[in-house]
Amino acid sequence: MVHFVGAGSGAVDLITVRGKNFLENADVIIYAGSLINTELLNYAKEECELYDSAKMTLEEVIDIILKAEKEEKMIVRLHTGDPSIYGAIKEQMKELDKHGIDYDVCPGVSSFCGAAAALKAEYTLPDVSQTVIISRMAGRTPVPEKESIASLAAHKATMVLFLSTGLLNELQTELIRGGYSPDTPAAIVYKATWDDEKICRCTVSTLAETAAANNITKTALITVGGFLGDTFERSKLYDPSFSTEFREASK
Ligand code: SAH
Repeated sequence: MVHFVGAGSGAVDLITVRGKNFLENADVIIYAGSLINTELLNYAKEECELYDSAKMTLEEVIDIILKAEKEEKMIVRLHTGDPSIYGAIKEQMKELDKHGIDYDVCPGVSSFCGAAAALKAEYTLPDVSQTVIISRMAGRTPVPEKESIASLAAHKATMVLFLSTGLLNELQTELIRGGYSPDTPAAIVYKATWDDEKICRCTVSTLAETAAANNITKTALITVGGFLGDTFERSKLYDPSFSTEFREASK
């Protein structure tokens, strides 16, 4: 059995209770060493075998799993944040299906949630945006043309860009080309929830220069949109004149 586990965005105590239990009981842990907080590995049993997938191919990961499975070991595949976001889990699941190996997924705190916490922000503000667009610049991994940054920017919704810190000149050009005004608020969140977390608030037109001035080249999220400002409508949910399933409106 393989448990895909979300490690959370950085801080060790942000892993779920379930994820920690899996780490404590695992015989084999294959972890994404380039991004997870390796302090999490202290939860592992002394005899647990540890493999850093940053140095491995998919085939090598699967070989380790096949061998461990034959020995009836409990296997944890530890991914950063939540495994469903840029986690490359589907290709692993496909191989496991092929070999008839069972698996499940334990979610984690994605870095886009960690970043909102760092910013003390709400992505979905009434009258500002009720939509969060998660995407990335095309890099060595292409992005389908239908999801070009400019076409997504046309919604002027909240946007969170992963894996794009090295491409900020192109990103800001595309965001503005798509429809955001150059002075739309933006924030770069570096290593959200880690001890060395850094928040740089700027505008869409100053993303590249802000990252350069702060030496941020990786492990950051770019957040964009009016949610970073302070003009918004209060919620209906807590409005005294609004009835809900649980509360009568006051007259
Ligand atoms: N599954 C992960 C994302 C993996 S892709 C998740 O749910 O968060 C790797 C990218 O995620 C990095 O290039 C960076 O853009 C972003 N990232 C991961 N951890 C981060 C963190 N703590 N702070 C800011 N960005 C982070």
